[in-house]
Amino acid sequence: MKNKLFRAIISALCFVVIFLPVSMAKAATTDSLKPITLIIDGVETAYEGIVGEFSFNGEKINIKKTPTYLFNDTAFINVKKIIKKAIPDAKYSYNKNTGRIKISRGDCSIVFYTDTMVVYLNGKATYSRLMPKFIEQNGDSGNFYLPGRLVFETLGYSYVWDSEKNVSVVTETNATGKIYELYRSEIVLENDINDRLEDIYEVFSLDLPKGVTKEDVSISDDIYKNEIYITVKGDHRKYFKNITFDDECKNCIVQIRSEYRLEDDITVLTILTQTDKKGICLLHTDEISDKKVFITFERAGDIYDKIVILDAGHGANDPGTQNFGINEKDCNLIIIKMVGKILEDAGIKVFYTRTDDTLISLRDRAYLGERLDADMFVSVHHNANNSRETNGTSVYYSLFNYCSSLDNTVTSRIMAETMQADLINNLKTNDMEVLTTDFTVTKYNTVPAVLVELSFLSNPDECALSITDDFRITASRTLANSILKFYEK
Ligand SMILES: [Zn+2]
Repeated sequence: MKNKLFRAIISALCFVVIFLPVSMAKAATTDSLKPITLIIDGVETAYEGIVGEFSFNGEKINIKKTPTYLFNDTAFINVKKIIKKAIPDAKYSYNKNTGRIKISRGDCSIVFYTDTMVVYLNGKATYSRLMPKFIEQNGDSGNFYLPGRLVFETLGYSYVWDSEKNVSVVTETNATGKIYELYRSEIVLENDINDRLEDIYEVFSLDLPKGVTKEDVSISDDIYKNEIYITVKGDHRKYFKNITFDDECKNCIVQIRSEYRLEDDITVLTILTQTDKKGICLLHTDEISDKKVFITFERAGDIYDKIVILDAGHGANDPGTQNFGINEKDCNLIIIKMVGKILEDAGIKVFYTRTDDTLISLRDRAYLGERLDADMFVSVHHNANNSRETNGTSVYYSLFNYCSSLDNTVTSRIMAETMQADLINNLKTNDMEVLTTDFTVTKYNTVPAVLVELSFLSNPDECALSITDDFRITASRTLANSILKFYEK
């Protein structure tokens, strides 16, 4: 009897030991339990999210090696493979040189670039925080993963995420896809959020953990990612774990998450803010007391009267022209910061496309004007030519950019002509005149925009001159004064 019971216990234990891992492994194909090592955009990441599947017209598509991954509740799909396997009337192409990924079906198309948040839906540019992700796993050579809903809805299919079975369900519909001209996704709500963002003013308040004083708290943001960061000294993961926001803030906040950074001993709350179809940024003004943090969301144009975007050309591993040990990117940034300081002292709100040695995509730079309600955009560069003789100053604008601002008193052409005349007058450099060409930052801008080539770094004399304090002070004062003149009109 005793023996029988013992055997029964042993066999029950064996059952647990032998069969449990199998059932866990089964669960792992849909609901991942163990982190999977993925290399996402070159960064090794322990992925703990959902590993999903895909079905087209009711049929499961076998994509075992490249399943769907969920990031921030958005299913990212290996669209290339899906199309090749199951959707013959859609086309996928990728140009390695330009970083362009195009998916089309009949008249409908969606174009991504691998380095920007701007996407083109049926030819129209719009802003999406859902950039392509390059994912490598199990030592494969990697694939681009794209946001499923955005892709398939733009192409005129219907898309549903089945959260019970973790499947992206795509079906053919009679829709032409043209109705999806503008960005539709779970982030953009059914009602036209554009209208609601027109005069938005919402306050988010956060109670701080006990013992935290205002000296322990700081607030910063990233306008490209639409994120605001509240940094609190110490480990407050538990306290912030289930942080929520009131209904009143749902027009402004998409999501809040917290994370602890051991090396700095800080807890960072990341607030992902809402944008409209065009990606209009919500800015914040904040107030920190010993007990509470208040964050007020508003559009840039509702907070500031006068807004200028300053763009220092190039950055990071794109140095611009390199001559005599001088990198163009550094010269551009020095001038931009000097111009910005003068404008800020004169009461103008300046947004910089970059303030340090980082590389921002040209399209993201061009889109800041619209997203931040700016009056104008000025990009500063230094020129180069194969001939060392060539020297002088020129200002470029694009004939495709016919926007105006400040009650139609400012256009790209007016900006270019004013700045060119003022620069030649003050710098006494060779007048290379106003030129028209289609740089991305001038052409795709939605506010008046110019690109200034201050001097030729390839010319030995002009290079030496360009790095003097005198030249930089004169150039930046001139550019700032030209901008200030536009506001005086
Ligand atoms: Zn340049």
